[in-house]
Amino acid sequence: MISVAIDGPAGAGKSTIAKTVSKELGFIYVDTGALYRAIGLKFMNVGFDEELNCDIAKVLEETKVDIKFINGEQRVFLNGEDVSDLIRTPKASLMASAVSAKPQVREFLLDMQRRLARENDVIMDGRDIGTVVLPDATVKIFLTASAKERANRRYKELIEKGMEVNYEDVLSDIEKRDYNDSHRAIAPLKPAEDSVLADTSDCTLEQSVELILSIIKERLDNK
Ligand code: C5P
Repeated sequence: MISVAIDGPAGAGKSTIAKTVSKELGFIYVDTGALYRAIGLKFMNVGFDEELNCDIAKVLEETKVDIKFINGEQRVFLNGEDVSDLIRTPKASLMASAVSAKPQVREFLLDMQRRLARENDVIMDGRDIGTVVLPDATVKIFLTASAKERANRRYKELIEKGMEVNYEDVLSDIEKRDYNDSHRAIAPLKPAEDSVLADTSDCTLEQSVELILSIIKERLDNK
C-alpha cells in the first residue's frame, strides 16, 4: 500500500489540497484533524471547556469515533451521529487542539489511523502523521504558509460558509493553535526529518495542488 503523509499547521490548505490530489491519484483521503475535532466535541457536549478538568479516560470510555466514506467524502461519526459539520466551529477547533495534547486521546486514535493506512492507499493529513502515526510513509510532506496567509484563507472559507467571524479572531485562533500544537509534550507539530517542505504562502490553490502532486510523483518514481 502507498501512504502519503501531509503534516502542517492549521489553515495551510492541507485538506483542500489533499482532497484534490487524492482524487487525482485514486487514493482515499483521511483527515485526521476531524477525528480530534469529534473527540473535542464529545468533551464539549459533556460540559467541559479547554481546561479539561475531568477524567479523560472515563469520557473516552463513552466515546466512539468512526469514519465512513460517502460518495468519496469522509464523514465523521460520534457515537453514531454524523458530526462532520458540527466539528467545524471555532470553539470546536480550540477543543480539538486541547484534547489533542492528551496522550490518552492520541493513543485512542492511533490504531484506527494505522489500520486505514494498512488497508488502503491513503493520503493522510494531520500534525504527526509522518513523525508518529506512519513513520514509514511512502512520501512525507510538511505543508506550510505564513500565519497571516493561513488566517486569510480560513477567514474567506468561514465567510463563504455563512459564518459570522472577524479576521482578527481567526488570526488569533490560528496563532493560538500553532503555539499549542508545536509546544505540546506529546507528538508536537514538527516536520519529519525525511519530509519535503512545501511553503504555499505565494501559491494559488491550483499551484499548490501541482506542487504537491509533483512531489508525490517524483518520490513514487524514485521508489
Ligand atoms: O487539522 P485540523 O485543524 O482540523 O485539526 C484540529 C486540531 O486537531 C489541531 O489544531 C491539532 O491540535 C489536532 N490534530 C492533532 N494531530 C493530528 C491532527 C489534528 O493533534 N494528526
